[in-house]
Amino acid sequence: VKYIYKGVEIEAKNLEEFMETLSKMFPEEAENINAFFEEAKKAYEECYMEAETYGVPLPAELIAKVFGGKKLLQYPKEHPHFYDWLKKTYKQKLDEYFKSSDLKSLLCALIGYVGLDPSKVPASSALTAVVSYYIYGGYFPKGGAQHFANALKKYIEDHGGKVLVNHRVDKILVEKGKVKGVKVGNKVFKAPIVVANANAKVTFLKLIGKEHLEKKFIDYIRSLRMSFSCFAVYLGVNMDLSQYPSIIVNLDQGYYVVINSNADPDLAPPGKASITIITPAYYHDFSERGTEGYLKKKRELADELIKKAEEIIPNLREHIVVQDAATPKTFERYTLTPEGAIYAFDQSIDVKRPYFKTPIKGLYLVGASTFPGGGVEAVVISGIICANDICNWVIHEP
Ligand SMILES: Cc1cc2nc3c(=O)[nH]c(=O)nc-3n(C[C@H](O)[C@H](O)[C@H](O)COP(=O)(O)OP(=O)(O)OC[C@H]3O[C@@H](n4cnc5c(N)ncnc54)[C@H](O)[C@@H]3O)c2cc1C
Repeated sequence: VKYIYKGVEIEAKNLEEFMETLSKMFPEEAENINAFFEEAKKAYEECYMEAETYGVPLPAELIAKVFGGKKLLQYPKEHPHFYDWLKKTYKQKLDEYFKSSDLKSLLCALIGYVGLDPSKVPASSALTAVVSYYIYGGYFPKGGAQHFANALKKYIEDHGGKVLVNHRVDKILVEKGKVKGVKVGNKVFKAPIVVANANAKVTFLKLIGKEHLEKKFIDYIRSLRMSFSCFAVYLGVNMDLSQYPSIIVNLDQGYYVVINSNADPDLAPPGKASITIITPAYYHDFSERGTEGYLKKKRELADELIKKAEEIIPNLREHIVVQDAATPKTFERYTLTPEGAIYAFDQSIDVKRPYFKTPIKGLYLVGASTFPGGGVEAVVISGIICANDICNWVIHEP
């Protein structure tokens, strides 16, 4: 990863290099840098302590249910570091260790992986999505994101399951507070258990319908704010960019250049590269898809981002072979998530996500709407929790 901050380029391949560079830049904070990462490592290990049993960390409600109330009471004592990160915002944690606002800004370079404002982002989320990146690195599905979905599909099919694509659920069927199945067009699929992976607003407000839910619950779901979205430009270029790092974060101008093919060379032919340039964006800043105003804005923003990226990769524009772009409205269109929100709901510390067990018997939530939140790893955790709960938390010996 390379960071560009106040015109200075900072590159680090691993935590040691990153800490060394930061310590040279901020010699008076060298000890604090060391202490910060030492604590972060301990907190991270504690966060995943229970993962030994079920493969995932659990929310407080489930710790009590699965391991007993005593375990929940002991949680602060057994997880002293992580418990502290749970109660604080990332800004509070940074303020505890550092004086330099430049150093703190640099340690927020990857904050976009969880939110945008360190004074609202829970320190625990920043730990697992941002600080862990410095410590353990980042991972990606080899061959692209679709390969991950394909692998899950294959696993389901290999174990006797069936995956139906192009089946948009119109209704989740409910009778007397119990789920009965789903309706797709005029086809009905009966089931005693339904696991909804659509956004919780869609699930409750559209697919279930308010006639089956209490007003208080409906008001709560309505009150949840969506997270930010982003604007992305996708490029295929006939340039060898292998000398660049995979991720370049320009903190001065608020965008990321990701050279996907540097992380995974299968994504572009030899001597060519696949690039994503991405910046935060908001749904309501874009007019209706397909209108003149929308298309103009999309073109202009793409153009602007390519121009900015040329400061990092000179003459990039001349080498473009394929170009596409996506707005929050594009993400909404393809993921069906309202507002094209990348992490479902706003992930601020004061937001309580819907619990994975719903007021409708037999209906479960998984995905970014529920614990632990947005991001691929997080939604996988939500799925594992749900599967364990449906199977009554039976421990399978390896
Ligand atoms: C541009 C972008 C970049 C991102 N980058 C990263 C990253 O680098 N790392 C990371 O960890 N996370 C990243 N994220 C976030 C991550 O992709 C999401 O948090 C995660 O994929 C959400 O998973 P999910 O299962 O909740 O929802 P989704 O992956 O959106 O899956 C929900 C599925 O439900 C389907 N669906 C919805 N409604 C219905 C219906 N009525 N009937 C049938 N099917 C329906 C949708 O079609 C969709 O396939 C990014 C997100 C975006 C948008």
